[in-house]
Amino acid sequence: MMKDIFEKSNKIVIKIGSSTITSSDGSIDRNFIDNLAKQVKALVEQGKRVVLVSSGARIAGVSTIGKWSRKEDINYKQALCAIGQVELMDSYRKIFNEYDIHIAQILLTREDFESEARTLNIRNTLFTLLDEGVLPIINENDTVCVEEIKIGDNDVLAAKATALWSGDLLILLSDIEGIYDKNPMSNDDAKLIEVVNNPEELEKNISIGEKSSFGTGGIATKIKAAKIVNKYGTSLIVAKGKEEDIILKLSEGKGKGTLFQAK
Ligand code: ADP
Repeated sequence: MMKDIFEKSNKIVIKIGSSTITSSDGSIDRNFIDNLAKQVKALVEQGKRVVLVSSGARIAGVSTIGKWSRKEDINYKQALCAIGQVELMDSYRKIFNEYDIHIAQILLTREDFESEARTLNIRNTLFTLLDEGVLPIINENDTVCVEEIKIGDNDVLAAKATALWSGDLLILLSDIEGIYDKNPMSNDDAKLIEVVNNPEELEKNISIGEKSSFGTGGIATKIKAAKIVNKYGTSLIVAKGKEEDIILKLSEGKGKGTLFQAK
């Protein structure tokens, strides 16, 4: 089923969660980015268009400046994002360049999705970049967003960006193989749910535990993202980002994940 969906999908959005982009010490995981670049290159060579949505700016900020990790004040959080965003993009740029892929940064806020003129501009920029073979990397513009006007988490940002671009498939790379009936970090007998046809129904039937220490949204926002894109006929897959070649494995019908199948 996953194989069919990949074959039919020409426009793919891949969202990288904070716990996937960082190593256990909080630094940027360059091996992960390298493997991601290799997979994006393979998808592009198959004729697919790819957009990335990447988290991790705040953690990258902490590991760059070496302080403020426990500061909860919004101005410090935003300062960390401003520091870390550069660091993050620097890693993406260096590594993707080795695969002959140029990258571009797009920072968005909730208001950008609410204005027709802005969505048109974003769409035009995305199409231009992709037509010219450049890989867009989207993140929330944390510096200008106070809590009240934030999209809040990149699962929902990725879903909105997928809808805006009319993407065919959204892949959320997390630190977990997919959605389980209960939190697998605290339950050995948790079972992976492989296919979801009704996200509303799923929400009622599983128990959602704590998110990971670096994570922001947890499982609830992944289900929210699925509801957004499924409405547009777009499927969503949750899979484990750190598993080598996970996207290519999924595209060949191998590899574990949870598929939220659009009707
Ligand atoms: P990301 O940074 O990729 O967005 P999060 O940390 O926000 O990841 O969410 C993934 C985490 O959600 C997992 O590490 C897992 O511990 C936790 N979790 C809680 N309940 C569940 C569940 N029912 N199925 C899968 N993961 C769950």
